[in-house]
Amino acid sequence: MEITGGCLCGAVRYRAEADPTSATICHCTDCQKFTGAAFATLVAVAKEALTIDGALKTFSSLGGSGKPILRHFCPSCGSSLAEEPGTRPGMMILNVGTFDQPALAKPGREIFRDEALSWIHVEGDIPRFAKRPG
Ligand SMILES: [Zn+2]
Ligand SMILES: [Zn+2]
Repeated sequence: MEITGGCLCGAVRYRAEADPTSATICHCTDCQKFTGAAFATLVAVAKEALTIDGALKTFSSLGGSGKPILRHFCPSCGSSLAEEPGTRPGMMILNVGTFDQPALAKPGREIFRDEALSWIHVEGDIPRFAKRPG
């Protein structure tokens, strides 16, 4: 389905063809830092199915895999919009909190449960991984 979204100030807008019904909940500390939230809710889209209007700023660091992960945010308001993991070339990971309709997203799996805050319990009979999946 078509997903639209953008940052808090509106300088960055995007639209994508994506399936938000099996989002990844990531509890890793890097996602906590980047999103400013207790956990990240993430939907992967193919880059060619994604259009972004507006300029992003990018922070690059090494992910747990040892490969770089690019984290994109709005330079005006700081909203964290997307990640680009070096392990998945061609894919962009959107942060569900920036969707115009975040309620479209449903959790499909949890990863890095080891780093989850003790009071977070995601409902549903979904796969849960202590660290990265696989
Ligand atoms: Zn903004
Ligand atoms: Zn994470």
